[in-house]
Amino acid sequence: MTAKDENDRTSILNDARDSATSRDFIREIIDADLKVNKNNSRVHTRFPPEPNGYLHIGHAKSICLNFGIAKEYRGLCNLRFDDTNPSKEDVEYVESIQEDVRWLGFDWDDRRYYASDYFEQIYDYAIQIIEAGKAYVCDLSPDDTRQYRGSFTLPGKDSPFRNRSKEENLDLFTRMRAGEFPDGLRTLRAKIDMASPNINMRDPVMYRIMRAEHHRTGSAWCIYPMYDFAHPLSDAIEGITHSICTLEFEDHRPLYDWFLDQVTVACHSQQIEFARLNLSHTVMSKRKLLELVQEEHVAGWDDPRMPTLAGLRRRGYTPEAIRNFCETIGVAKRDSMVDIALLEHCIRQDLNKRALRVMAVLRPLKVVIENYPEGQVEELDAVNNPEDPGAGSRKVPFSRVIYIEQDDFRENPPPKYYRLAPGREIRLRYAYFITCTGVVKDDKTGDVIELRCTYDPQTRGGDAPDGRKVKATIHWVSAQHAVPAEVRLYDHLFTKANPLEDENADYRTYINPQSLEVLKNCFVEPCLAQAAYGSTYQFERLGYFCADPDTTKGKPVFNRTVTLRDEWAKVEKKQKG
Ligand code: ATP
Ligand code: MG
Repeated sequence: MTAKDENDRTSILNDARDSATSRDFIREIIDADLKVNKNNSRVHTRFPPEPNGYLHIGHAKSICLNFGIAKEYRGLCNLRFDDTNPSKEDVEYVESIQEDVRWLGFDWDDRRYYASDYFEQIYDYAIQIIEAGKAYVCDLSPDDTRQYRGSFTLPGKDSPFRNRSKEENLDLFTRMRAGEFPDGLRTLRAKIDMASPNINMRDPVMYRIMRAEHHRTGSAWCIYPMYDFAHPLSDAIEGITHSICTLEFEDHRPLYDWFLDQVTVACHSQQIEFARLNLSHTVMSKRKLLELVQEEHVAGWDDPRMPTLAGLRRRGYTPEAIRNFCETIGVAKRDSMVDIALLEHCIRQDLNKRALRVMAVLRPLKVVIENYPEGQVEELDAVNNPEDPGAGSRKVPFSRVIYIEQDDFRENPPPKYYRLAPGREIRLRYAYFITCTGVVKDDKTGDVIELRCTYDPQTRGGDAPDGRKVKATIHWVSAQHAVPAEVRLYDHLFTKANPLEDENADYRTYINPQSLEVLKNCFVEPCLAQAAYGSTYQFERLGYFCADPDTTKGKPVFNRTVTLRDEWAKVEKKQKG
C-alpha cells in the first residue's frame, strides 16, 4: 500500500466517524425547514432511477437516504422512474429496480410513478413557457448548437432563431409534436442567457425530436423532454419537498429553479446535492457495468462480483448489512472513495450474528484413521453458532476416512506452522485428537495424496483427560457422508483501487484475472445437501458462504461472500495506534 492509499484510507475513516456522530447537512436543512413550517411541514422525497440498468450499491446510498428520511420525519418517499430517454430504457430494468428496492427493505406503497405519465402535463408547461416568451424553437443542428454554446472561457452566441415570435414558436412546437419534422431537425430551447457564466443556463434544450419506441408510451410521442426540464416538473407535480440528488447536478440547480419559476406549481421543491458513493476496486457507472455484462467480463448483472444489488444479493450480502454500510458512510458534500473493505466489514459483522457454522473442505486431502473401527459411525455434537445460543446444535457424522484441507498438512512444516505434520498431534474440531503416522504419495508426481493417522479414543469431544494440549484445531468432513459441492471464490473485480484514475488507460485493463476461482471437488457436511438459495453459512476457518441459484439436486453450489480476515478492523486498529 502506498502512502497515498494510506492517507485516503485515513480520510475515509475520519469521514465515516464524523458522519456517524453528527447529523448530516441534509437533515439539518430539513430541520430548519420544519422550524419555519415550510411546505406546511411536509417532508416528501423521491428516489428517481432511470430504468437503463440494474441498481448498484451507489443507488442503495440514495435509496437509504430518501426512504430513510421519509421514515424518520414521518413523511413520504415516491419511487419514480425517470424514463425520458427511451433509447436506453427497458422493462427488464423497471422490474429489477422494484425488486431491489423492496429487497433492501423499503416500500413506496401506491406511489410508483413514471416521468412518462407526465408527458402531457410537461408538454402543457412547455406551451406556457413559450406563451410567456421564455422558450423558442431553434433550427440549429446539434453541432451548431454546441458551437454557439461557447465554453467555460468563451461566452455563448445567440441563436439566429432566438427571436422568433410566440405564434411561430407555438406553431412549430405543435408541428414538432405532430411529427412533421425529422429527428434532430429542431429543438425547443429555454430563452435564458447565452452569456451566463453557467453553461447550463445558456438556452438549454427542453425538447428534442426522437423517434424511439418508449417502453410505456409506445410511439405516442416523437418529442421527448430533456432530463433538466422533466425532472423539476415531475418533482412539482408529485409535491416533492426535498429533491435530493448527487453533486454533479449542483450547477444545474439554477436551471431547476428557473423552470419552476416560469410555471404555476403548487410546490417548488428544493434541490439538495450530496456526494455520490465511489467504492474502491469496482466501477459504478451503469454504462460501464453494462459494458462488463455485454462484453462478458462477468456472467450477468447479478454476477456476484458486480457492485449491483442483484450481484451483492447473489454473493450473500444481506439488506441489513448494506443499510448499515450506508449509514456508516453517511452523507457528505465532498466526493471521496470508500474502501471496499468497509463494505466487507459490514457484511462480516452481520453474518457473524446470523450465519450457521458448518464444516466444509474446499481442497480435500484424504485421511485414513487406521485404529478407528471399520464401518463404525459416530454422531458428534457441533455448535451451530457460538454467537447465538438459540441456534442450538447438530450432529456431525465421524468415521474412519475423512477429508481435511490440503493446507492443513505440511510434510516439512516451516517454523510456526502448528497444524498437521508427520508425527504431530492435532485436534479435529468436535471430534478427536489425531496423530499423523504416515503419508501416501502419488508415484508419478510425488504429491502427498493421502495421510495415515491414529486417533486417541480418550479425546472424544476434543479434550484429553490427561490435560495434554495440541496447538491446532482443524476442520474435516467424513468421506462417506460428505456431500460433493462446487464452491466459487470471488475476489475484487478490479486490481486497482480506482480503475478510472488513469485517464490514459481503459478501466478494463485493470480487470482482475483472478476475480473468480471455481473449485469443483469440494465436500461439505451432510446438513448442507438441501441448502436453499439465499441461506448463508460460515464454513469454519474459511469464511462466509451462501448457496447459489445454480445449485441442483444433489450438487450444491456455494459462493464465498467474504473471507474471515477483516482488513477494515486492521486499518482501524492502526488508526487508533
Ligand atoms: P449512473 O451514473 O450510474 O448511470 P445515474 O445517476 O445516472 O447513475 P440514476 O438511475 O439516474 O443513475 O440514479 C437514480 C438516483 O440514484 C439519482 O438520484 C442518483 O443521484 C442516485 N445515484 C446514482 N449513483 C449514485 C451513487 N454512486 N451514489 C449515490 N447516489 C447515486
Ligand atoms: Mg441519471
